[in-house]
Amino acid sequence: MDNKETQGAGNNPNQPAQPNQPDQKPNGKRRFNLMWIYAILAIALIGLNFLGRDSVTPQEEIDQGKLVEMLKKGEVGKIELVNREDAEIFLNQKGLSIYFPEVNANSDGFTTTPNYTYKIGSLDRFEEMVENAQQEVANPVYITNVRRNNWVSDILAWVVPFGLLIVFYIILMRGMGRNMGGGAGSIFNIGKSRAQLYDKNTNVNVTFKDVAGLEEAKIEIMEVVDFLKNPEKYTKLGGKIPKGVLLVGPPGTGKTLLAKSVAGEANVPFFSLSGSDFVEMFVGVGASRVRDLFNNAKTKAPCIIFIDEIDAIGRARGKSAITGGNDERESTLNQLLTEMDGFGTNSGVIVLAATNRADILDKALLRAGRFDRQIYVELPDIVGRKEIFEVHMRGLKLGNDVDKDFLAKQTPGFSGADIANVCNEAALMAARKGKDEIDKQDFLDAVDRIIGGLEKKNKIITPEEKKVIAFHEAGHATTSWLLQYAHPLVKVTIVPRGNSLGAAWYLPEERQITTKEQMYHEMIATLGGRAAEQVIFGQISTGALSDLEKVTKQAFAMVTYYGLDDEIGNISYYDSSGQQDYSLTKPYSEKTAETIDREVSKLIEKAYQEAISILTDHRDGLTQLATKLVEEEVIFGEDLEHIFGKRPWNNSEDEKLKDAALKAAENRSESQPENQSQNA
Ligand code: ADP
Ligand code: ZN
Repeated sequence: MDNKETQGAGNNPNQPAQPNQPDQKPNGKRRFNLMWIYAILAIALIGLNFLGRDSVTPQEEIDQGKLVEMLKKGEVGKIELVNREDAEIFLNQKGLSIYFPEVNANSDGFTTTPNYTYKIGSLDRFEEMVENAQQEVANPVYITNVRRNNWVSDILAWVVPFGLLIVFYIILMRGMGRNMGGGAGSIFNIGKSRAQLYDKNTNVNVTFKDVAGLEEAKIEIMEVVDFLKNPEKYTKLGGKIPKGVLLVGPPGTGKTLLAKSVAGEANVPFFSLSGSDFVEMFVGVGASRVRDLFNNAKTKAPCIIFIDEIDAIGRARGKSAITGGNDERESTLNQLLTEMDGFGTNSGVIVLAATNRADILDKALLRAGRFDRQIYVELPDIVGRKEIFEVHMRGLKLGNDVDKDFLAKQTPGFSGADIANVCNEAALMAARKGKDEIDKQDFLDAVDRIIGGLEKKNKIITPEEKKVIAFHEAGHATTSWLLQYAHPLVKVTIVPRGNSLGAAWYLPEERQITTKEQMYHEMIATLGGRAAEQVIFGQISTGALSDLEKVTKQAFAMVTYYGLDDEIGNISYYDSSGQQDYSLTKPYSEKTAETIDREVSKLIEKAYQEAISILTDHRDGLTQLATKLVEEEVIFGEDLEHIFGKRPWNNSEDEKLKDAALKAAENRSESQPENQSQNA
């Protein structure tokens, strides 16, 4: 899960509040300071605006005609040309007595401030005009040039941009400081590690009791703790203690939780931070943070460093050369590698890291002496899910009808985080309905909601559309019911949710390997929706986009990844290492590409025709089902059983076979990318 913290805290009432979380207060204060900076800025700008203008009080501006007239009559005493742009006209005694009779001149015969101003267009023309106008005047005035400096505005013009730059810089630094969280909010701390320290003073209340399932992972991780506490036990025989342990698994499976519980169990100091905490916009910061982190850790040894989402820095180096490479991340990673190599095996620092993308990690990170141990944290199976439900139901007020086994069965493919979310969501739903306790229906609604989003009861759907959707969903339901290997249906609704118009829930078997037959049957069932539209209405709609997408991906995977196509044969173009960049070059020839395209569309077409023929054969049943769906909006597996009869394959013989196959698959330690999705 991306935002673990909020998730975890929101979901689990048992979970303690995170220690050392930056509380809201400093934030609010910072906001206040920012307001001041804005205010000062604004005042400075306004001030500058005023100062930028001429500091002399503005005089009446006159036009050329009036000026010429005054010059002709000999009323002008002095013309001062300021900075070669403005002329300031001072009247002589004669002029003053005419235009400003009440104003007294100074001893030199002029007023202190000019009487008029005149804006000059071209300097030459102005001089010429003044000269021409005074041809008949006895003692003509000449233009005097004056340079006037406005010191204040000149200085401000220099200072203000610098000031702005500095203010901007401060704001920037503060913004970064805020991301850094408590205490580290100054630019001087930018190279300091942002790890949170959990030790005996900060009590971490997460223990192994809060982590359900994951037994193997717990044992392995407990061993790590034991390394720290009794190193002699292991080193006595010459063994080396591992330096790094990588927790690998899909998001939300409890990697972070597991690491936190180690802190609670081990009673050694525990530094926790996320890979992205190293990343900053300045080059060199990440590396310096790594150094700082390890220095801190060494002073506290024995201790554990936990780096969540290590792929943020541990991504394979030099892969994205086209996009301009990320030198900063690389140097951070290099520093991490150096630090891990640098401390001796017995220095008592063990690095735990979590990722859900072990495939993209740099190989150097995984080699012996660094993260040489990997603990796989898988999606929980049915037993695990039950236990997770137990953990998260601890604080809830449950009704009598809540059955954990049943819920575990209803939530295949859910991660621990999803289940935590279901529990929380169920509690909220019950509260919304004003109930005293949370009952089974609340949990089921919560599961639906998490799979499909919130019901949108008021999305406008015309009756015709409703009919099409009903047939579409009935098509999925019918085909999957009638095909041996398709997942049996649990429930279909035509209540729009999220951005889908209808949805069907299936009960996927938890299988580790899928046969070609099974995949093919799933494809038929996925195309069943569109096929039903074709069979009933003779036309198809755009409503099958996600079905088509799913089917295309699946067919593609069958042909190019799983080697399930006869024409292509036992070849897989899947690249589990993620090292090849297939976005530019394909690993196969143009000719093979054509074959792949052809085989994919052949496969899909065959599945579609199969779906059509099944639905044509069972047209009555389909219609019955769709009609019921239009009436009731929701139908369940029992309704299908009513219409089509029991599925003949669900006999115990078959189950036994399946179990045997499952066991065999488990023994073969093969992990395959599996696409099981439960809604169509
Ligand atoms: P990850 O780090 O693997 O992405 P988290 O450890 O952050 O996942 O898990 C998120 C939340 O999901 C946890 O806070 C917890 O509430 C719940 N959760 C996940 N796995 C388990 C589990 N095995 N037992 C109990 N709760 C779990
Ligand atoms: Zn569909």
